[in-house]
Amino acid sequence: MTEPQEVTGPDLFAGVPASDLPESGKLVGRVGDEEVLVARIGGALFAVGAHCTHYQGPLGEGLIVGDTVRCPWHHARFCLRTGEALAAPAIDPLKRWSVREADGVIRVETEASTASTRAPEVRGGARRVVIVGGGAAGFAAAEMLRRKGFDGSVTMLSSDFDAPYDRPNCSKDYLAGEAPAEWMPLRAGDWYADNDIDLRLDAEVSALDLAERTVSLKDGQPFGYDALLIATGAEPVRLPIEGFARPDVYVLRTLQDADAIVAAAGRGRRVAVVGASFIGLEVAAALRSRGLEVHVAAPEAVPLARVMGEDIGQWVRGLHEKAGVVFHLGQGVRRWGDAKLTLDDGEIIEADLLVLGVGVRPRTQVAEAAGLKIDRGILVDERLQASAPGVYAAGDVARYPDPHTGAAIRVEHWVHAERQGQHVARTILGDEAPFTDPPFFWSAHQDVSIRYVGHAETFDRPTVDGSLERQDAEVRFLRAGRLDALATVGRDLRSLETGVELER
Ligand SMILES: Cc1cc2nc3c(=O)[nH]c(=O)nc-3n(C[C@H](O)[C@H](O)[C@H](O)COP(=O)(O)OP(=O)(O)OC[C@H]3O[C@@H](n4cnc5c(N)ncnc54)[C@H](O)[C@@H]3O)c2cc1C
Repeated sequence: MTEPQEVTGPDLFAGVPASDLPESGKLVGRVGDEEVLVARIGGALFAVGAHCTHYQGPLGEGLIVGDTVRCPWHHARFCLRTGEALAAPAIDPLKRWSVREADGVIRVETEASTASTRAPEVRGGARRVVIVGGGAAGFAAAEMLRRKGFDGSVTMLSSDFDAPYDRPNCSKDYLAGEAPAEWMPLRAGDWYADNDIDLRLDAEVSALDLAERTVSLKDGQPFGYDALLIATGAEPVRLPIEGFARPDVYVLRTLQDADAIVAAAGRGRRVAVVGASFIGLEVAAALRSRGLEVHVAAPEAVPLARVMGEDIGQWVRGLHEKAGVVFHLGQGVRRWGDAKLTLDDGEIIEADLLVLGVGVRPRTQVAEAAGLKIDRGILVDERLQASAPGVYAAGDVARYPDPHTGAAIRVEHWVHAERQGQHVARTILGDEAPFTDPPFFWSAHQDVSIRYVGHAETFDRPTVDGSLERQDAEVRFLRAGRLDALATVGRDLRSLETGVELER
């Protein structure tokens, strides 16, 4: 979410020379007080809103692929013909305008109606869809079912206390106090009832009966399904270390967790963070910007090195150090108690609260007890179907075959979870396509964003092109000569282009 920006560019209502827009080109101008993107594809002209409906990213700096435009910030994909948000993280369509070319001038005229979706073909015959989980994947699946016109029942059972919200922001602007609470929900509260989605909160599913095709809540209430999506995500790990079960030790997964950390930070002056991964570092940055003294302790010598390599890790460390974060790296933690974190070498960090960012584990318990195939996640096929008919899994909990490498992978990214949820919705409606989107995530460090596309659990030494210091770089992750992933800083177009290459 960003503030509205100044409207710039040529007046498209008055018209621009047709020669300004070659085939497959795009340009941005204004119509009244709105920025509009005009593109020429296959000789035809299209005019749509110039800002992504997710976080207002500038589509004029994005990538045209076929008849779609992709957002440079978080890779949302829109259809230029209809304005539809084809792929998350955007959900809402772009506005459309009518546009015509005459006498060598392109003019954008009246606003056109938004895309209407086709009536669904429900080949599988599912009438009752139950979604376990109210996070990225669960929400995106429910929304896509209704968007595509599914008129059967949709029930969403979530153990969360809040309706689906922007989880990544829980460690970023929201935690820093720079995003108001009203930015967090993915949809207004009445949207669920208006769309006939039966959203149950504080509703923990404790049993799944594959033969009877029911899931049951802890209180025994059963819900029958024809199609079931398990999107239970992952839960933070709490290390078995003395003092880590105390109430002044926090983890961060939910909005409630973020609120609890904010409240505790408001009562204290110093925070210790255990873990120098994405969550740990984002928490450190957010609490630093709230004015707390922040210490980060972790066993690795270089933050993020396992995932991003040493160059990015060292550079990110420097960004946080410049902001005043103090690192204690290369050693484990022995205990926490009496506002003291004791490290393995005996060093003591005094802090008023402790936040753990030491990884998550997929929430597979219910699926496992029901007899679904599990391997460090719920095993699914290329259509995200689990090992029982009518049962699907998506998001952090699912392990699926990566079409790029052939390996079974589990991915913990917001956009990927949403896209998998959307894919399951389309599969339930009869689409038989495999899931082929390459993983994508972003991470913010002291106002600098890193974008990462692809998936590389292991890699040979990453190669850096450009300068991380100048925030103009790309880091390539290769394995035996094959490009598996690319991280970029300030090179959003390269990230988009690589996403397209990986798709192919
Ligand atoms: C603080 C934070 C910051 C993040 N930042 C980023 C980022 O910058 N970029 C990025 O790509 N990714 C980020 N992620 C990761 C991203 O949020 C996850 O990958 C994504 O939310 C996974 O979606 P999901 O639907 O699989 O699970 P979740 O979004 O976790 O949703 C799981 C849902 O299942 C519910 N549930 C679990 N068990 C049960 C049960 N038994 N019964 C009923 N309901 C149940 C939960 O209550 C929840 O509603 C971040 C994660 C966190 C925690």
